[in-house]
Amino acid sequence: MTPTVKKYLAAGEAIFKEGDSGDSAYIIENGRVEISLTSAGDNFVLTNLGVGELLGEMSVIDGSPRSATATAIEPCELIVISREALAERFDSADTIVRFLISMLLKRMRSSNKNQISKQTSTTKPQPGKDSQLITADDPEAYANQQAAVLERLHFEADLKQAVASKELVLNYQPIIELKTRRIAGFEALVRWPSPKRGLVRPDKFIGLAEETSLIVPIGKWITERALEDFAHLLKVWEGLGEEKPIFMSINVSGKQFKDPNFFDHLTQTTDRLKLDPSMIKLEVTERILIEGVEAETQISHARKLGFRVALDDFGTGFSSLGYLAKFAVDTLKVDQSFVRKILSDDRMLVITRAIVHMSNGLNIPVVAEGIENPDEAAALLAMGCEYGQGFMYAKALPLEKAVGVVERKTFHGTSEENEREVHGQDAQAEAPKSA
Ligand code: C2E
Ligand code: CA
Ligand code: CA
Repeated sequence: MTPTVKKYLAAGEAIFKEGDSGDSAYIIENGRVEISLTSAGDNFVLTNLGVGELLGEMSVIDGSPRSATATAIEPCELIVISREALAERFDSADTIVRFLISMLLKRMRSSNKNQISKQTSTTKPQPGKDSQLITADDPEAYANQQAAVLERLHFEADLKQAVASKELVLNYQPIIELKTRRIAGFEALVRWPSPKRGLVRPDKFIGLAEETSLIVPIGKWITERALEDFAHLLKVWEGLGEEKPIFMSINVSGKQFKDPNFFDHLTQTTDRLKLDPSMIKLEVTERILIEGVEAETQISHARKLGFRVALDDFGTGFSSLGYLAKFAVDTLKVDQSFVRKILSDDRMLVITRAIVHMSNGLNIPVVAEGIENPDEAAALLAMGCEYGQGFMYAKALPLEKAVGVVERKTFHGTSEENEREVHGQDAQAEAPKSA
């Protein structure tokens, strides 16, 4: 389903009328909108709204009919925020917050009506004249909050549009066998090259996508794209006469993992592409383990279907060694915040070594994330860490460059040499996240 996210109106056209049921709210991208009420047969302008302002949210939130009419007074371009997009937030909000919002909306509606009746009993305002009836106690705080909320809604609408117009791309970061420096697999990492916002990193939009369930269609697309590209990479790999298979790691968020259609879609895609599920690794973070029983069931279901499961970002958040005993996983990924410090902080070195030893003792291979220099790689290798990924070898690459990596099989030399070989002259700079 392609969501309708924009609406265009000519001057004089009504967006909605008093008494209508409210199915959408709107953000004004261009033009001006007049909000008016009818009282005793006369039309009163409550306010005029301009670019960046929100309208129509009240009925969408509390389900009551529109209490005012909104008319374009110039040609307008509006971003449509669907009832679902707001209702999901509203329904999942704290009950007290919901109550307070409903109460405020009620108060706002009755204050609009009262204001109109006061005006009609004294001097009538000229129909069409601006009058700001809705005020806030702390206008600056209100304006800041409004700007932040609007930016989030705007961002969400842009992301929805990006999904509909297929703006997202997947890049593949090589995962290396540290001892031989041979390619072992890839991790699919999503990027959003937005024509409007520039290159948006996943940490900027995956969280929002998870909050809004947009992660489900995004994740579906990621799965399909990653598996199709993997089928291509695998063909190149097998063409070289290689026996040990490479793998593809796909990041899966908690919400996706819980989606009842997730595994059906995954197996349909591997069947269609004739891919062996054991070559596919689903990366899930520790966070989903906190959710307990459900995650446990899903992980064992994934493994019964033949897929591999990697525990991502191990060592961050609520990590507990107990999880490793409880949840059978196939790979452990040590978070880059550990790798970053093993050379400078002895305690981190000891902790990382303990994690690697324990994991190896459970026959679970470890992938170290974020290796940026040969000393880190050497320290990890010395403690028995089998695999690694990081800018020292390669950043996440578009498919054509990933094919080049497969053809070369092995990484040699310094990170600068790898950079030149892998990325070529036109290397797209992907700045390290940490200094
Ligand atoms: P992650 O799963 O921990 O992915 C590894 C991140 O570390 C990637 O950032 C990668 O570019 C970065 N990285 C790799 N090597 C190095 C290094 O040597 N130095 C430094 N400083 N960074 C390195 P990216 O691509 O920005 O992804 C950030 C996070 O966004 C990912 O963390 C993952 O949680 C999420 N994400 C990315 N792609 C997807 C996706 O397709 N689906 C889902 N659900 N989440 C995704
Ligand atoms: Ca990951
Ligand atoms: Ca990670």
